[in-house]
Amino acid sequence: MPPCEYENCDGQAHDGATLCIFHDKNYLNGNNYDKHKDEVANKLQTKLLDNKPSNFQGYCLPEISFKNYEFSQPINFNVATFYGHVDFVNTTFAKETSFMGAIFSKEAQFYEATFKEVAIFMHAIFSKEASFAWATFAEGVSFERAT
Ligand SMILES: [Zn+2]
Repeated sequence: MPPCEYENCDGQAHDGATLCIFHDKNYLNGNNYDKHKDEVANKLQTKLLDNKPSNFQGYCLPEISFKNYEFSQPINFNVATFYGHVDFVNTTFAKETSFMGAIFSKEAQFYEATFKEVAIFMHAIFSKEASFAWATFAEGVSFERAT
């Protein structure tokens, strides 16, 4: 299969597409959402188990839970789209974390999350409720132009 055309993506395009399952907006669109959400979530989990710096820039993600999870490496969710409920309850972000321009289509829970280094939410879009109650920001956070 050909490589995904998204800049700096090391994934492979899925059947009949030019983008991988994470970058193809249609892969979770409409009726495809229920069909593919488990596959995308499971593949993402597999990537996280590698425990390498994680570049999820531009990813299209289904409902997903990182509850009680610790990201030990820098993590990049810039311009990612979360189509479902996102659960970062009690999640620890040990390194720099960026959600610049990310779109949260449903509720985003960051309840009791810990950001040990810089957290960037600049230009992020929270379409529904977002909860940062009891979240800890050790090194500063930017919500500049977030809505
Ligand atoms: Zn890709």
